[in-house]
Amino acid sequence: MNARFVVVGAGTMGVGIAYVAAGAGYQVELVEVDRDRAAAAHDTLTGLWDKAVSRGKLSAAEASAARTRIVSVPSLADVAECPDVIVEAVPERLDLKRAVLAEAAGRRPALLGSNTSSIPIGALGDNVIGLHFFNPVWAMPLLEIVVADGTGADTVTAARSLAATLGKEPVVVRDMPGFATSRLGVALGLEAIRMVEDGVASVADIDRAMVLGYRHPMGPLELTDVVGLDVRLDIARTLREAYGSRFEPPALLESLVAQGHLGRKTGRGFYQWKDGVRQ
Ligand code: NAD
Repeated sequence: MNARFVVVGAGTMGVGIAYVAAGAGYQVELVEVDRDRAAAAHDTLTGLWDKAVSRGKLSAAEASAARTRIVSVPSLADVAECPDVIVEAVPERLDLKRAVLAEAAGRRPALLGSNTSSIPIGALGDNVIGLHFFNPVWAMPLLEIVVADGTGADTVTAARSLAATLGKEPVVVRDMPGFATSRLGVALGLEAIRMVEDGVASVADIDRAMVLGYRHPMGPLELTDVVGLDVRLDIARTLREAYGSRFEPPALLESLVAQGHLGRKTGRGFYQWKDGVRQ
């Protein structure tokens, strides 16, 4: 395949998207403005390929071929016109994303996507579609395709076909705050926190109830720890603006975040964590 896939932003998500795209056979250009971040992305990718080889998921030759399919560039100006796909994965700031997507549109990609997890797609520019990947991108099967009012049917078809090429399962959702995943996931998480406040059951038992009774792979409180309490609080506030008091952040969540207990990344949230492992 000589198809070209441009990823803008080589952070947590951009690296994952680049890794999966290169694995699917795309020639990948990874655009990163920060030189240290670009170097770190290179190290992360090397680690991912090494791990895939040591676990027998890829042969050394396949990993080496995928590695040669990714090049790093410092700006979108270095990207040749008419790539097949551009996906932006820069930080979640409206002004930054609008600027990056406007510049990306100037490269005339066949498909232009944003990996935003909460900004309305319609606010990001014309002909942009939401391509919401999940972390870690190589392990999570979902691609949430977010369709704004002006998005054409052929763009949705192209996004579905991209999902298939990348080995992802698409869901197509309307451009509404929280899309499908954040709205439903955060609703469950907030209610679980309110149940802790009400003393309905212990943190561990609330989680166990959903794991054993509903076959969730992880309970809503542990998942909140993994995602980050600060991240979920931000989303809850955004959704409260959109949908009202049912997304009111519980006092316990506000208080844990104010104390710096953000979950796995700080060692404490609803559980204690050490080296990324729940204690
Ligand atoms: P991150 O901070 O890890 O990475 C963002 C990268 O973009 C940084 O390396 C930064 O230097 C780079 N960048 C900033 N401006 C740039 C520019 N003009 N051109 C090129 N690179 C630029 O962020 P992340 O966690 O990877 O999140 C990226 C996006 O993905 C956000 O919209 C976020 O909401 C969304 N998202 C994140 C997750 C997650 O779990 N982290 C999951 C789904 C979606």
